[in-house]
Amino acid sequence: MSHIAHTISFDVEEYFHALSMREQFPRGDWDKIPSRLAVGMDQILNLLDRHKARATMFFLGWVAERHPALVRRCVDAGHEIASHGYEHKLLWEIGEQGLDSDLERTEQALVAAGAPRPVGFRASTFTLTRRTWWAFDHLVRRGYRYDSSVHPVRHPTYGVPGFEPGISTVRVAGGAITEFPVLTRPMFGRNFPAGGGGYLRLLPYAFIRKSLEQADQAGRPAMIYVHPWEFDAAQPRMAVKWSSALRHYRNLDRTADRVEDLLKRFRFVPALELLAERRALPAGA
Ligand SMILES: [Zn+2]
Repeated sequence: MSHIAHTISFDVEEYFHALSMREQFPRGDWDKIPSRLAVGMDQILNLLDRHKARATMFFLGWVAERHPALVRRCVDAGHEIASHGYEHKLLWEIGEQGLDSDLERTEQALVAAGAPRPVGFRASTFTLTRRTWWAFDHLVRRGYRYDSSVHPVRHPTYGVPGFEPGISTVRVAGGAITEFPVLTRPMFGRNFPAGGGGYLRLLPYAFIRKSLEQADQAGRPAMIYVHPWEFDAAQPRMAVKWSSALRHYRNLDRTADRVEDLLKRFRFVPALELLAERRALPAGA
């Protein structure tokens, strides 16, 4: 049994919001596609309840508008509600001009559904990189206290390879914000992704568990992330390129067991609570 608290987070979005499914599901079609969100969220909420764990739920504003009862259910179960942006656009597509309205629209959807105003943010597909560093200015200005969008790894789409892999403070002109990046594991002088999502399904489970054990023993809180659609082995299979199919469909039937094992072994609390307990939030917010 572990001693320190970690955070398990869920990016609350539909299977058709994933980046690898983009060409199959154009934005204009979304409202015509039957929702499968409950398939994953029912399993997630039951697992968390059974293991007395509380999580951070990064909701898309688009999802919160259409499923306010689900937002409410997460609030009532003691989970933290945070923002995953409005409609899963990458930060460099939203652009510096568009980010404020994207954040605001999401805040409004969450508050209208009955959640407190979010103070945590995760960009779609971890697209907060050196190229979109301006996002921190906007987050600070809008009162966000932490971000979980930087992935300190090398990756073709995202990543900030030299970034501090633990909890750190990012300072910008308007103030400061805490960064709580997803878990990585140092090996061979590099950081490897070990924080969940596809990696939780694609890598041998022992690698993920070991990475968390190492973080736990070193007293470093880990941030884990999973998507509801990763619990949904019966979702429609689309003809996508082989690399996307691997990333999106492989081992969907193993997600629940792996998450349950993590919940048994480690202690999880919402990110905001964890950061407050560790006095890791910026002062004066
Ligand atoms: Zn997402």
